[in-house]
Amino acid sequence: MKIVNMSFEEKWNKIMECDRSYDGLFYTAVKTTKIYCRPSCRSRKPKKINVEFYETISECVTAGYRACKRCQPEVEHNPHTNLVRKAAAYLINHHDKKIVLQDIADHVGVSAFYLERLFKEEMKKTPREYIENIRIDKAAFLLKHTKQTNLEICYEVGFHSSSNFYKAFRNVIGCSPNEYRNSKESTHAMERSRNVD
Ligand SMILES: [Zn+2]
Repeated sequence: MKIVNMSFEEKWNKIMECDRSYDGLFYTAVKTTKIYCRPSCRSRKPKKINVEFYETISECVTAGYRACKRCQPEVEHNPHTNLVRKAAAYLINHHDKKIVLQDIADHVGVSAFYLERLFKEEMKKTPREYIENIRIDKAAFLLKHTKQTNLEICYEVGFHSSSNFYKAFRNVIGCSPNEYRNSKESTHAMERSRNVD
């Protein structure tokens, strides 16, 4: 079963941005070094052609990969991490639906109040901020890689009004969807890596 519904290209963008919000949801395995990493690892980036993605540590190990010494993907830093990752995966996989906090809480089996607190502690974002980031990430990806209109993208990624979409986009990316589409590839990555730490 797929844990997180993301394409190779999307995962690749995340590792280029060293985005912490995807840690634990997938792993980057480098065929040439036989090492696997968290998406946020700050080691030198591998060549795209040498990368494959796995969803669990046991898959990486079975395929003959060793854990990276720098990002230590096999070490859990927080006992609640699994619960928060499960919630995050739920948000990623349902980002295009209308989700209320209680849905996620039911999915992971704790109270909404408790979930929100744990999530914020671990991700430094509320579930609402997190899903907004996911939607904007998807939108940014579609703007760069498809010919879909802003409005089509707005609805596809789960916004219900274009004004919310434009506001959120500017909030997360720092420019309008059109400006983003016409900008160079690197802008978004730079913007995001500044916000990671
Ligand atoms: Zn690493």
